Amino acid sequence: MNVQNLKIALQRSGRLSEGSIDLLRNCDIRFDDGVGKLRSSAQNFPIEIFSLRDDDIPRYVEDGVADVGIVGENILAEHGCTVDMIEKLGFGKCRLSIAIPKNDDYTSVADLNGKKIATSYPGVLGRFLKQQNAAAEIHTISGSVEIAPGIGLADAVCDLVSSGSTLFTNGLREAETVMNSEAVLIARKNLDSDLTQLVDKLLFRIRAVNAAQRNRYILLNAPNEKLKKITELLPGIKSPTVMPLAEDGWSSVHSVINESDFWEVVERLKNAGAEGILVLSIDQMINGGCIS
Ligand code: ATP
Ligand code: MG
Repeated sequence: MNVQNLKIALQRSGRLSEGSIDLLRNCDIRFDDGVGKLRSSAQNFPIEIFSLRDDDIPRYVEDGVADVGIVGENILAEHGCTVDMIEKLGFGKCRLSIAIPKNDDYTSVADLNGKKIATSYPGVLGRFLKQQNAAAEIHTISGSVEIAPGIGLADAVCDLVSSGSTLFTNGLREAETVMNSEAVLIARKNLDSDLTQLVDKLLFRIRAVNAAQRNRYILLNAPNEKLKKITELLPGIKSPTVMPLAEDGWSSVHSVINESDFWEVVERLKNAGAEGILVLSIDQMINGGCIS
C-alpha cells in the first residue's frame, strides 16, 4: 500500500527550532533531528520533517514543497503568502515594536513623522505607518537592526522584542507595538483528503498536548454540607469527580482547571471551606503514576 507522508517544515536552527521539535516529540512523534540534517522521517507517524530557514517556510508551504509548517506570525505577515493559518501554538511569543533612543521624547505616532526607521519588516511596518498616517522613511536592513540608531543609520528601529533586554543594551526603548506574534501551524491550501486527514490527526494531538500544558489537576477535601458550593466553583472538563472519604461527612473532589483562572479559583475554594488542596500538572499525573 502506498502511504502518503505529511511533509512538515520546521525552522532549522533558531528561536523556534526547540519549541517546534519539542511539540512534535510531545505528540509522541519519534524522529532523529541529527545536527545539520535537512530531512528526516518519523518512525511512528507518516510524517517527514524538513529543516529550513524560517523566512523560506511560508513560500515552501505555498509552493507544495511542504504541506504544513511551523513559523512565526511575523514572517507570515511580512511575506503575505496564501497559506492557511490553522493553529496558534503558544510558543515563540514576541512583538514587533518600534523603538527609539531612550532619551528621545515620544508622545504619539506623530512623533515618527520625518524619522528614518530601520527594519527587516518593511511590509508590516509600511502598512502600520500608512494606517496611522505617519510619514516616516523605512530603511530595510536584514540583521543587527538594533545597532542602527547608535551608528547613525536611522533614528528608530522596528524589530522583534520579547524581554526587551536587547533594546535596553542598545540604549533603546519601545515606543509602539506594531504586532504581536507567536509560532503558528500553517498548511497549504486545498490539500487532498489523505493529507487533510493526516493534518487533522496531527492537530488533534497538538491540541491535546497544549490543553494538557494549560490545565492543572486539582484534588481537595470538602465537608459534605459545603460540597454543592465547592463543586459549583469547579468547571471541570465535564464536571468534577466526587468520592466519599472514609471519614464521615467528608468527600474527595477531583477536577481539571484552566491555568489562566487557576489561583483565583483556588482562593475561592479555600474561602468556600475546601481543605487539603493539592494541585498537579497533567504531566505529573501521568509521569507520577497517579493515572493507570
Ligand atoms: P533563520 O536563520 O531561520 O532565518 P532568524 O535569525 O531569521 O532565523 P530567529 O532569530 O531564530 O530568526 O527567530 C525566529 C522567530 O522566533 C522569529 O521570526 C519570531 O517569530 C520568534 N521570536 C520570538 N522571540 C523573539 C525575539 N526576541 N527576537 C526575535 N525573534 C523572536
Ligand atoms: Mg530568518
